Order: sequence, then structure tokens, then C-alpha cells
Amino acid sequence: MPDDLLDRLRRFHDHTFPGVQDTFEHLVKDGQHPTILFIGCSDSRIVPYLLTGTGPGELFIIRNVGAFVPPYDGSAGYHGTAAAIEFAVLTLEVAHIIVCGHSHCGGIRALYEEVPPEAINLRAWLELGREAVLPVQVTEEALCRTEQRAIVLQLERLMGYPMVRGRVEAGRLALHGWHYVLEDGEVHVFDVKSGSFVAAAQALHSGTGPYQPFADGDSGGSGGAPA
Ligand SMILES: [Zn+2]
Repeated sequence: MPDDLLDRLRRFHDHTFPGVQDTFEHLVKDGQHPTILFIGCSDSRIVPYLLTGTGPGELFIIRNVGAFVPPYDGSAGYHGTAAAIEFAVLTLEVAHIIVCGHSHCGGIRALYEEVPPEAINLRAWLELGREAVLPVQVTEEALCRTEQRAIVLQLERLMGYPMVRGRVEAGRLALHGWHYVLEDGEVHVFDVKSGSFVAAAQALHSGTGPYQPFADGDSGGSGGAPA
């Protein structure tokens, strides 16, 4: 049986790597200094480097089902996502955190459907998006709104991390909520002031930057989540 993966590894080493070897040698010698933490859904159609025009060493990436952020308090046990957030903020000192959800998200759709009984971890994980669910019939529009509401929910949960909140309030860290429409190639960025998502083509900034849900008399603590 042909081993396609082995072929790909050899092709990478022999053909692709020579073209980027200098970059990697530099990144090994000087270490990694990414300025952006990218929290994205695991969906195979999201390609963070393609989307942001970045390359090796530029993005610290967390991928999980739904692009969810667990609470800081550690109440849910092991959390690779929470650990990576702490590392990115405290050790790498990133200046930006992007939460990137997307259209046609299976994780969001699963909030409206039955999860296989043996998927006990997935079932628990999906609860991190539960608050975004709308009490309406499932339509494409409802799913889109849920995807966007889930992004805002994760931004709010990020603000529950003391090291995130402190840096955001000090103006050293910006949070960005992105809803990536796969079929359009367009990211709609969350504007915390208007509480809405704006297509990048019309947006005045790349996200909430900085995320200040409690500023300007917005005391609701909802971050202006879209309805
Ligand atoms: Zn997804």
C-alpha cells in the first residue's frame, strides 16, 4: 500500500525545506517571538497562515472544536487551551489574541444536535459555547448568529484570565474577534463599541482592539454581544 504521508514528508525535506532553511535556523537560534496568539476552530478549511499572510514564527496557534476558551479557574480539569493562553501571554508576551470562528462550523451546529453518547469529552467541551445558542429554529442565519455570539463569548471568557485582563486594561494586549466566512474569503471583525461584526473591507480596525467591554459606560458586562 502506498504511503502517501511518507512521500509528503520526504517531499517536504527534499524540496520545500531548503527554501525556508535560513528562516528556521534563525528561529532556532533566536527562539520564537510571535506577537499573535491565534485561537481558531480545528476545521480543516481554516488556514491561519494563508488568512493572515504570515509564516513560520509569526503565529502561536491553538486549534480546538469551535475555537472555544475554557474558564480560567481550572474547574474543568486539564485544559491544553488554557495552558497555551497562559504561556502565550506570560512567556511569549503576545500583543494580540485573535479568536477566529467561521461559517458552517460543525462545532456550533453540534450545539443544536445530538452528540454521540460515547463522545463524553466533546459533549463537555461544547458546553463552552452553550450560552451562544438561540432559542429559535435552526436556520443558516441562526447558525451564523450563533457562530458570532460564540466568538464574543470566548472573548469575554478570555477577559476572565487575570493576565489577559490586566494587559488589555493597560493597553498592552488587544483582543480580536473574527468570523471568517469561508465561501467569501472575508473575515467579519467584531466591533465592541457597536456590538456587531463588520466585514474587513468596511472595518476601521482588525477587531475589538483593544477589547474594553466595560468602558464607555457599557456596564452590562455583555461586551455588546450581538443579539
Ligand atoms: Zn468550526
